[in-house]
Amino acid sequence: MPGLAYNYSGKVVLVTGSGSGIGRATALAFAQEGAWVAVSDLNEEGGLQTMEMILKNGGEATFFPCDVSNPRSIQNLVEHVEKRMGKIDSAFNNAGIEGEQALITECSEENWEKVINVNLRSIWLCMKYEISLMNKNGGGSIVNCASIAGLVGFPGIPAYVASKHGVIGLTKNAALEYAQNNIRVNAVCPGVIQTPMIDRFTRGDNAAFEQLVKSTPIGRIGKPEEIAAAVVWLCSEYASFVTGHALVADGGWISQ
Ligand code: NAD
Repeated sequence: MPGLAYNYSGKVVLVTGSGSGIGRATALAFAQEGAWVAVSDLNEEGGLQTMEMILKNGGEATFFPCDVSNPRSIQNLVEHVEKRMGKIDSAFNNAGIEGEQALITECSEENWEKVINVNLRSIWLCMKYEISLMNKNGGGSIVNCASIAGLVGFPGIPAYVASKHGVIGLTKNAALEYAQNNIRVNAVCPGVIQTPMIDRFTRGDNAAFEQLVKSTPIGRIGKPEEIAAAVVWLCSEYASFVTGHALVADGGWISQ
């Protein structure tokens, strides 16, 4: 894919949930563009693998373990990056889970709380600490990971849909609260993307996978790199007038 001439050299970028899937592809893309990347994940093995991949490609990265369902873990993550690099220029708050598949009447309180804490409360807490640090350093840019499930309903995953709708609302609020502080805040709304999350969601069922492909107007599901490209652009100077926006990258899904 031909690249825009980004200039991320000297920039510090934090990516949560970058031990796999979309987060990993985005961490690799930022590093490719010259950023120093704080790779973070609950899964240490995956996070360390991403860090190694970046180092092997000649980029710069360090792995910081973090469980985004734990408020103190998020605070520690941002403090550790500040101690190490003094700032965060851009952050992709990406860590998320799909939760259990169950209709509203069958959804357990446990599943509801877990999904809301990992997918939505974490976005508030990540921004709380990232924005405090950005305020000390003259600004920055943030992208929160929502979903097409933040724009339309998907029967069977009510907590996930509620969490992702919440991410878009919170993104708009943060954009308004900090627009005067040189901080831009946007969301990305991926459609169906080939990652371990989709493998878990379809449970290896080929018919379920084909149904997802059939539902995507472009005729295929997306690649993690196609979301990474959107995030790297949103965080860059090329998107300097874009804030409070939920950018859809879904092969046409929600236009139907
Ligand atoms: P994935 O499962 O491949 O990656 C998610 C990563 O988040 C994993 O490395 C996992 O260890 C990490 N994670 C999970 N819980 C965590 C926690 N408590 N603390 C820290 N890290 C945690 O899935 P993915 O598809 O790459 O998903 C990334 C994001 O994209 C999620 O927010 C997801 O909701 C969103 N998304 C994915 C799709 C898709 O089709 N794959 C579509 C729309 C939105």
